[in-house]
Amino acid sequence: MDTYENIKTGMVLCDGERKGGYAFTCRGQVYTCKGCGNTGCRQAKEDACSKQAFSVTFQCLSCGAIGQQETATLDYTQTQAWLNPSEDAHAG
Ligand SMILES: [Zn+2]
Ligand SMILES: [Zn+2]
Repeated sequence: MDTYENIKTGMVLCDGERKGGYAFTCRGQVYTCKGCGNTGCRQAKEDACSKQAFSVTFQCLSCGAIGQQETATLDYTQTQAWLNPSEDAHAG
């Protein structure tokens, strides 16, 4: 995980690799699925990024839910959830 890099830069950008002949870092906006916690970028085409999590219709590629995306921010608790995925806080 290169999450620390994103935190350092102050932005939550996808650090996956774009596919399709262009080997460059994606740096797209990152979203989190409220249904399953899947986190990654959204791409117009399927399998366009190594860390893609959502299709163009915001369908989660992991659980199939549509419209359950949440914009990933640098919110402290959310960041902790990423760093400690096994400790899923359900305090509320
Ligand atoms: Zn990406
Ligand atoms: Zn999902």
